[in-house]
Amino acid sequence: MTNDKDILASLSDVSTESEFFSPIPKGYKKGKTKYCFVTGTVMSGLGKGIFSSCLAKLMQDKGLKVTPIKLEGYLNIDSGTLNPFRHGEVFVLDDGMECDMDLGTYERMLDQDLSAANFATSGQIYRSVLHKERHGDYLGRDVQMIPHVTGEVKLKLRTLAMQTAADIVFVEIGGTVGDLENAYYIEAMRELAYEEGPGSSCFVALTYILEPKALGEQKSKAAQLGIKQLMQCGIQPDIIACRAGNPVDLKARQKISIFSNVPINRVFSMHDASSIYMIPAMLRDKGIDFEVLRLLKIEDRTDLRKERKNWATWCDFNDKIGIAKNTVTIGITGKYTSVRDSYASIINALEHSGIALGSDVQIKWIDTTDITDISAAEKLADVDGIIVPGGFGTRGAEGKIACIKYARQNNLPYLGLCFGFQMAVIEFARNVCGLKNANSSEIEPKCTQAVIDILPEQKKIEGLGGNMRLGGRDIEIIPDTMAAKLFNAKSVRMRFRHRYEVDPKYIDQLQNSGMIFSGKAPDQPIMQILEIPSHPFFMGTQAHPCLTSRPLLPHPMFLGLVAAAAKRKFPENKLPDPLQAVNKTKK
Ligand code: GLN
Repeated sequence: MTNDKDILASLSDVSTESEFFSPIPKGYKKGKTKYCFVTGTVMSGLGKGIFSSCLAKLMQDKGLKVTPIKLEGYLNIDSGTLNPFRHGEVFVLDDGMECDMDLGTYERMLDQDLSAANFATSGQIYRSVLHKERHGDYLGRDVQMIPHVTGEVKLKLRTLAMQTAADIVFVEIGGTVGDLENAYYIEAMRELAYEEGPGSSCFVALTYILEPKALGEQKSKAAQLGIKQLMQCGIQPDIIACRAGNPVDLKARQKISIFSNVPINRVFSMHDASSIYMIPAMLRDKGIDFEVLRLLKIEDRTDLRKERKNWATWCDFNDKIGIAKNTVTIGITGKYTSVRDSYASIINALEHSGIALGSDVQIKWIDTTDITDISAAEKLADVDGIIVPGGFGTRGAEGKIACIKYARQNNLPYLGLCFGFQMAVIEFARNVCGLKNANSSEIEPKCTQAVIDILPEQKKIEGLGGNMRLGGRDIEIIPDTMAAKLFNAKSVRMRFRHRYEVDPKYIDQLQNSGMIFSGKAPDQPIMQILEIPSHPFFMGTQAHPCLTSRPLLPHPMFLGLVAAAAKRKFPENKLPDPLQAVNKTKK
């Protein structure tokens, strides 16, 4: 066989009759970027994204440049049209890409803004292959899964490597090994590892250890079979992470080690943790970070001084977990109350704020389908604050409005996110401004007082999956408002995903009655943050601040809500008002 150099030379030449078809971006330097592939066996939902992001964080702390990519098997071009009830929340990136919730895990863990380059679906891969086929780019060859579709995957990974100049690309494959729709991704990884040569990639397999109650012991057979399936694809795992409820015992790990040719020190337990933010420490304690460095032969690229500093900061943050001084309960209203994944970013944002403020934040899920003005009081009696999150459609909308009315009238801290912002405007218009028929044209298309209406700029764009105002936008903050004090800035950036907005013709009436729009689009009359100054904490935003809350930098609007909730619940403790509490966390 040819040596490494020959392979690369023929790889870059896509026009030859060579069987080594593998398009390589111009200027790509083999060896600069290493690849860490993360796959799952036994079942989905093992937390591949969590594992991968924690490992990437440990590498980043060592001064290495890391970037993640999630490869999805489905044919949708993005996650925008996916039902969050089935797939978890749609996470929106700053560039407007609507993607899988795992991208949120990466952004939070790495404190890094990602882009469309960090997310691929089979839909995107095939679209690109078909586009090239129509342009005659395959030079008369029949277009095949191997090498053309796998070639497209490798091109995407290498392009990301080049664009980001990363030391390590963390590649997470969706689903489980054995899924038909993901098989070509696994084949592409095998090819890439071969082409890049020894020491340039490492394979991590996440698996699941069963603990049947009736047996009272851990069973590794399903894990063994899953790993065998991966090996049948020509992939020898380097590291095996065993997911389980409890720490995985030595016996189970030894069995897996023997059956998979993976040394026992690289078969480790990744059992449930009280917070995902404790998992980097779990991996570090087991030395997984150094195993990866050795496998990828990049020990010499690390900066241990940097690591000491970064790790100390992370440990300080970890030390604050689980030692809350008080407990507050935040009610979250929503249609998808049975599936926590639909609200992953909100749950995370509350956790960040709770840790920073020393409050244990409990969540009470409130289904608003049957809530009325009377039952709202009953449902909200035991909550210290309330969030009405983003949403679409009519179901439960009147119940949300009833909850907001209760919050406004009873000084209950309120945070409205996107749909929750719109519902707060409707409630205020109806019950304070006297616009009895106020509504959103999304809920009531023939509404005569549509205080919330379709955006003029969105009206022009037809069809689902493309007509939303998406991604990061700057918001101008109006001085001397709660928002100005919370953010301590004249302008902030938040991410959006909506079609409707406040109809500008009602703005004066709303403001004259005591609702202030404290954030707006710089050049258009698009209202983006609202507040009621006479209320201890009543805020809403047309954006989704939860998407940019980070563990070490909680979002000020969430901090404000949690601080206000604690102050309301413990009046005898004389806690600082929300603004003072938020400012203290910034010191
Ligand atoms: N349905 C509303 C709109 O499209 C709110 C969207 C949301 O909450 N993300 O404007």
